[in-house]
Amino acid sequence: MFNLETIEQAQSENVHRVKIMRKKYESKPVPKIKKLITVIEDCSVDTPCKSMACAKCQRQRRQKYIEKWLPYFENHTGYKFVTLIFYQDMISNNELTHWSPDNLIQRLGKALKRMGFCDPVIGGFEMDYHRYTHNIKESYWLPHFHLLVPDEPDNLEKLRNYMLRDKNLHARKGRRNRPIRIDDIDEIAKVLSYCVKGFWQEIPWFINDKGLLKKVKNKKRITNKTVFVKSLLLLDQLKESHLNFSVNVQNR
Ligand SMILES: [Zn+2]
Repeated sequence: MFNLETIEQAQSENVHRVKIMRKKYESKPVPKIKKLITVIEDCSVDTPCKSMACAKCQRQRRQKYIEKWLPYFENHTGYKFVTLIFYQDMISNNELTHWSPDNLIQRLGKALKRMGFCDPVIGGFEMDYHRYTHNIKESYWLPHFHLLVPDEPDNLEKLRNYMLRDKNLHARKGRRNRPIRIDDIDEIAKVLSYCVKGFWQEIPWFINDKGLLKKVKNKKRITNKTVFVKSLLLLDQLKESHLNFSVNVQNR
């Protein structure tokens, strides 16, 4: 109805996740993997596990979120769809295990208020895995946000400048980043659903015939088992309040 996956799709995604975690557990019996397998397998409609690593509970989160916000945006159309990428906060696979987005989320919230946005800014936090197929050790995770932001030109300009500050713009050696993208909203339900999709994917990079670093256009499922399980373990640590971003929404 809102561009959501079906319950059956979420269920089969969970079966896939459990299968990968089992394989990983067989080669490396880490207790928290086993625990997460049990949590996801025991999740039911009556007793949802509420883990953010569970595709069914993620679906539930998105549905709730869309139902909550759709009426607001149908009445408040002066908004833009904004993507913010925090290159300066990129992290390696090894760091992922002990990483938390708390700091980044707080920083962004404060910055948006400082810029002068007074109306709700809402959306979602997620991570992409940039897999360097030619040098796997240089692969990294990139935190980013998909947000609905009031269309206030002066404040949006401040946001643009904030994202384009030097340390974010030049966080990758020899590359100029594109940390902000501002789009018009065509279909609000679609955009809302996209903001909170909570399915972390990978973007493969490769060196082409001319020796240039290029990325594959479409994101895909994380291929490496170890990396995928790590991402599920981190998602399991997170709460809805990490994945649903909001500023200026008290009492709504
Ligand atoms: Zn669940």
